[in-house]
Amino acid sequence: MGEDDFFFSVDRSKQARWTGGERGERAVDGTGDSVERFRPDEHADSLPEVSLDRLAAAGVRGIVVDLDNTVCEYRRPELAPGVADWVRAARDRGFALVLVSNNFTERVASVGAQLEIPVVPNALKPLPFAFLRALKLLGTPRRATVVIGDQLFTDVLGAKLLGLRSVLTKPLVAKDFPLTRVLRFLERTIAGRS
Ligand SMILES: [Mg+2]
Repeated sequence: MGEDDFFFSVDRSKQARWTGGERGERAVDGTGDSVERFRPDEHADSLPEVSLDRLAAAGVRGIVVDLDNTVCEYRRPELAPGVADWVRAARDRGFALVLVSNNFTERVASVGAQLEIPVVPNALKPLPFAFLRALKLLGTPRRATVVIGDQLFTDVLGAKLLGLRSVLTKPLVAKDFPLTRVLRFLERTIAGRS
Protein backbone atom coordinates (compact mmCIF):
# COMPACT_ATOMS: atom_id res chain seq x y z
CA MET A 1 0.00 0.00 0.00
CA GLY A 2 1.59 3.28 -1.08
CA GLU A 3 1.35 6.71 0.46
CA ASP A 4 -1.57 7.62 -1.78
CA ASP A 5 -3.44 4.56 -0.64
CA PHE A 6 -2.93 5.60 2.96
CA PHE A 7 -4.24 9.12 2.57
CA PHE A 8 -7.10 8.23 0.33
CA SER A 9 -8.27 5.16 2.16
CA VAL A 10 -8.48 6.62 5.65
CA ASP A 11 -12.03 6.97 6.89
CA ARG A 12 -13.93 6.77 3.65
CA SER A 13 -17.18 7.31 5.50
CA LYS A 14 -16.18 10.90 6.20
CA GLN A 15 -14.93 11.39 2.66
CA ALA A 16 -18.20 10.06 1.33
CA ARG A 17 -20.12 12.48 3.49
CA TRP A 18 -17.90 15.35 2.34
CA THR A 19 -18.47 14.60 -1.31
CA GLY A 20 -22.09 13.63 -0.75
CA GLY A 21 -25.05 14.97 -2.63
CA GLU A 22 -26.65 17.23 -0.08
CA ARG A 23 -23.66 19.53 0.17
CA GLY A 24 -24.34 20.93 -3.29
CA GLU A 25 -26.28 24.14 -2.94
CA ARG A 26 -25.97 24.73 0.78
CA ALA A 27 -25.23 28.32 1.73
CA VAL A 28 -23.59 29.02 5.07
CA ASP A 29 -23.90 32.24 7.01
CA GLY A 30 -20.31 32.20 8.25
CA THR A 31 -21.16 32.50 11.95
CA GLY A 32 -20.36 30.05 14.70
CA ASP A 33 -17.20 28.38 15.97
CA SER A 34 -13.75 28.21 14.42
CA VAL A 35 -14.74 25.39 12.09
CA GLU A 36 -16.75 28.03 10.23
CA ARG A 37 -13.46 29.48 9.04
CA PHE A 38 -13.21 26.47 6.80
CA ARG A 39 -16.75 26.55 5.46
CA PRO A 40 -17.02 27.85 1.93
CA ASP A 41 -20.07 29.87 0.97
CA GLU A 42 -20.79 27.38 -1.79
CA HIS A 43 -19.54 24.14 -3.28
CA ALA A 44 -19.23 23.27 -6.95
CA ASP A 45 -18.11 20.17 -8.80
CA SER A 46 -15.71 22.22 -10.93
CA LEU A 47 -14.93 25.78 -11.98
CA PRO A 48 -17.16 25.62 -15.09
CA GLU A 49 -20.01 24.45 -12.82
CA VAL A 50 -19.88 27.69 -10.81
CA SER A 51 -22.97 29.66 -11.78
CA LEU A 52 -22.16 33.16 -13.01
CA ASP A 53 -25.84 34.01 -12.45
CA ARG A 54 -25.54 33.12 -8.77
CA LEU A 55 -22.31 35.08 -8.38
CA ALA A 56 -23.90 38.11 -10.01
CA ALA A 57 -27.02 37.74 -7.87
CA ALA A 58 -24.79 37.69 -4.76
CA GLY A 59 -23.26 40.99 -5.83
CA VAL A 60 -19.93 39.50 -6.91
CA ARG A 61 -17.96 41.46 -9.50
CA GLY A 62 -14.41 40.21 -8.91
CA ILE A 63 -13.27 36.58 -9.16
CA VAL A 64 -10.03 35.16 -7.79
CA VAL A 65 -9.32 31.78 -9.38
CA ASP A 66 -6.94 29.13 -8.08
CA LEU A 67 -4.74 27.33 -10.61
CA ASP A 68 -3.67 23.79 -9.65
CA ASN A 69 -6.51 21.31 -9.61
CA THR A 70 -9.02 24.08 -10.31
CA VAL A 71 -8.01 25.37 -13.76
CA CYS A 72 -5.40 22.73 -14.69
CA GLU A 73 -4.56 19.34 -13.33
CA TYR A 74 -1.57 19.43 -11.04
CA ARG A 75 1.64 19.66 -13.15
CA ARG A 76 -0.32 19.63 -16.43
CA PRO A 77 -0.21 22.63 -18.76
CA GLU A 78 -3.60 22.08 -20.45
CA LEU A 79 -6.72 23.87 -19.29
CA ALA A 80 -9.42 21.54 -17.95
CA PRO A 81 -12.51 21.11 -20.15
CA GLY A 82 -14.84 24.09 -20.05
CA VAL A 83 -12.44 26.40 -18.23
CA ALA A 84 -11.58 28.66 -21.18
CA ASP A 85 -15.27 29.05 -22.09
CA TRP A 86 -16.24 29.80 -18.49
CA VAL A 87 -13.53 32.45 -18.14
CA ARG A 88 -14.55 34.03 -21.44
CA ALA A 89 -18.21 34.06 -20.42
CA ALA A 90 -17.32 35.64 -17.07
CA ARG A 91 -15.26 38.34 -18.76
CA ASP A 92 -18.00 39.00 -21.32
CA ARG A 93 -20.45 39.55 -18.45
CA GLY A 94 -18.18 42.16 -16.93
CA PHE A 95 -16.58 40.15 -14.11
CA ALA A 96 -12.95 41.00 -13.36
CA LEU A 97 -10.76 37.93 -12.96
CA VAL A 98 -7.31 37.17 -11.59
CA LEU A 99 -5.38 33.92 -11.19
CA VAL A 100 -3.79 33.53 -7.74
CA SER A 101 -1.53 30.52 -7.27
CA ASN A 102 1.04 29.20 -4.83
CA ASN A 103 2.83 27.77 -7.84
CA PHE A 104 5.82 29.39 -9.49
CA THR A 105 5.92 32.38 -11.80
CA GLU A 106 6.55 30.65 -15.13
CA ARG A 107 3.72 28.13 -14.84
CA VAL A 108 1.23 30.67 -13.52
CA ALA A 109 2.13 33.25 -16.17
CA SER A 110 1.69 30.67 -18.92
CA VAL A 111 -1.81 29.74 -17.78
CA GLY A 112 -2.72 33.39 -17.25
CA ALA A 113 -1.64 34.13 -20.80
CA GLN A 114 -3.81 31.30 -22.14
CA LEU A 115 -6.81 32.69 -20.24
CA GLU A 116 -5.85 36.32 -20.87
CA ILE A 117 -6.20 37.28 -17.22
CA PRO A 118 -3.66 38.79 -14.79
CA VAL A 119 -1.83 36.55 -12.33
CA VAL A 120 -0.38 36.61 -8.83
CA PRO A 121 2.12 33.74 -8.56
CA ASN A 122 4.08 32.54 -5.50
CA ALA A 123 1.04 33.52 -3.49
CA LEU A 124 1.71 31.77 -0.16
CA LYS A 125 -2.03 31.26 0.33
CA PRO A 126 -3.70 31.40 2.84
CA LEU A 127 -1.57 34.42 3.83
CA PRO A 128 -3.32 37.66 2.84
CA PHE A 129 -0.63 39.39 0.74
CA ALA A 130 -1.45 37.82 -2.61
CA PHE A 131 -5.19 38.22 -2.06
CA LEU A 132 -4.67 41.90 -1.27
CA ARG A 133 -2.65 42.25 -4.46
CA ALA A 134 -5.46 40.46 -6.32
CA LEU A 135 -8.05 42.87 -4.91
CA LYS A 136 -5.99 45.78 -6.26
CA LEU A 137 -5.80 44.15 -9.70
CA LEU A 138 -9.54 43.42 -9.68
CA GLY A 139 -10.53 46.84 -8.36
CA THR A 140 -13.42 45.28 -6.43
CA PRO A 141 -14.30 45.60 -2.73
CA ARG A 142 -13.91 42.53 -0.54
CA ARG A 143 -17.63 41.84 -0.23
CA ALA A 144 -17.95 41.83 -4.03
CA THR A 145 -15.06 39.40 -4.52
CA VAL A 146 -15.10 35.61 -4.52
CA VAL A 147 -12.24 33.11 -4.31
CA ILE A 148 -12.81 29.88 -6.25
CA GLY A 149 -10.47 26.97 -5.56
CA ASP A 150 -10.14 23.34 -4.54
CA GLN A 151 -8.49 23.65 -1.12
CA LEU A 152 -9.93 24.58 2.26
CA PHE A 153 -6.60 25.48 3.82
CA THR A 154 -5.43 27.84 1.08
CA ASP A 155 -8.35 29.12 -0.99
CA VAL A 156 -11.25 29.06 1.48
CA LEU A 157 -9.30 29.98 4.62
CA GLY A 158 -7.45 32.74 2.75
CA ALA A 159 -10.78 34.14 1.55
CA LYS A 160 -12.34 33.98 5.00
CA LEU A 161 -9.41 35.75 6.65
CA LEU A 162 -10.06 38.79 4.44
CA GLY A 163 -13.84 38.62 4.39
CA LEU A 164 -14.07 37.47 0.78
CA ARG A 165 -16.67 35.03 -0.46
CA SER A 166 -15.53 31.53 -1.40
CA VAL A 167 -16.54 28.60 -3.55
CA LEU A 168 -14.86 25.24 -2.97
CA THR A 169 -14.51 23.05 -6.05
CA LYS A 170 -13.64 19.38 -6.18
CA PRO A 171 -9.97 18.86 -7.11
CA LEU A 172 -9.51 17.89 -10.77
CA VAL A 173 -7.22 15.00 -9.81
CA ALA A 174 -6.04 13.46 -6.57
CA LYS A 175 -2.33 14.05 -7.22
CA ASP A 176 -0.80 16.92 -5.25
CA PHE A 177 2.25 18.15 -3.47
CA PRO A 178 3.00 15.80 -0.54
CA LEU A 179 2.09 18.61 1.87
CA THR A 180 -1.22 19.12 0.07
CA ARG A 181 -2.02 15.46 0.60
CA VAL A 182 -1.61 15.94 4.34
CA LEU A 183 -3.83 19.02 4.23
CA ARG A 184 -6.51 17.12 2.33
CA PHE A 185 -6.50 14.49 5.05
CA LEU A 186 -7.12 17.25 7.59
CA GLU A 187 -9.80 18.75 5.34
CA ARG A 188 -11.69 15.50 5.40
CA THR A 189 -11.37 15.32 9.18
CA ILE A 190 -12.76 18.82 9.62
CA ALA A 191 -15.46 18.27 7.04
CA GLY A 192 -16.49 15.08 8.78
CA ARG A 193 -16.79 16.86 12.10
CA SER A 194 -18.73 19.86 10.85
MG1 LIG B 1 -5.55 24.23 -6.02
